Amino acid sequence: MNRPSDHPLYALLPIETASPEETLALGERLARHLRPGDVLALYGDLGAGKTHLVKGLARGLGGDPEDVSSPTFTLVNEYATRPPLYHLDLYRIERLSELDEIGVEELLHGEGVCVVEWPERMEPLLPPGTLRVRLLHLEGDRRRVEKGREGEREKGG
Ligand code: ADP
Ligand code: MG
Repeated sequence: MNRPSDHPLYALLPIETASPEETLALGERLARHLRPGDVLALYGDLGAGKTHLVKGLARGLGGDPEDVSSPTFTLVNEYATRPPLYHLDLYRIERLSELDEIGVEELLHGEGVCVVEWPERMEPLLPPGTLRVRLLHLEGDRRRVEKGREGEREKGG
C-alpha cells in the first residue's frame, strides 16, 4: 500500500521548469499517477505556476488545457476529463462555510481527482492521503516544483 509520503507522483520531484510549457508538460506527467479520489494540494504564491500545472493535469487526463482557468469567484471548476477533474482555487475564500455551499465533501471524497490552489485555506478539511506539491518562483521563467509538507503555512502567516 502506498502511503502519501511515498506516492509515485513524488518520484518526479523536485524538478525545475524553465517555461510555462514545461510546467504544463510536468502536470501531464504527474497526471499519470493520479487515481479517482486523489486530492492534490498545490501550494505557492501568485504567479508560481499552479494554474499552468493544472492545465497539464487536464491534458494528462484527456482534457483540453484551454478549458482550464482559475475558478477564483466560483471556487470550483469541473473539467470533462477521465476521471473528472475538480479544480478549486481558494484565493478569495473568506469563510470555510463557502465550501459547504459548493459541496466540497462530495468533491473531496468522490470519484474524481480534486486539485486545490491555495489549499492552506482549507487545511483542516484536507483528507488524510492528500498529495502536497509546492511551486516556487525562481528567477525569470524558472520555477521549482517540489514535494510539499502537511500543515504548510502562507508566508508571513
Ligand atoms: P498561479 O496559478 O500559481 O498564480 P499561473 O499558472 O496562473 O500561476 O501563472 C504563472 C505565470 O507565470 C504565467 O503568466 C506564466 O506565463 C508565467 N510563467 C513563466 N514561467 C513559468 C513556468 N516555468 N511555469 C509556469 N508559469 C510560468
Ligand atoms: Mg492560479
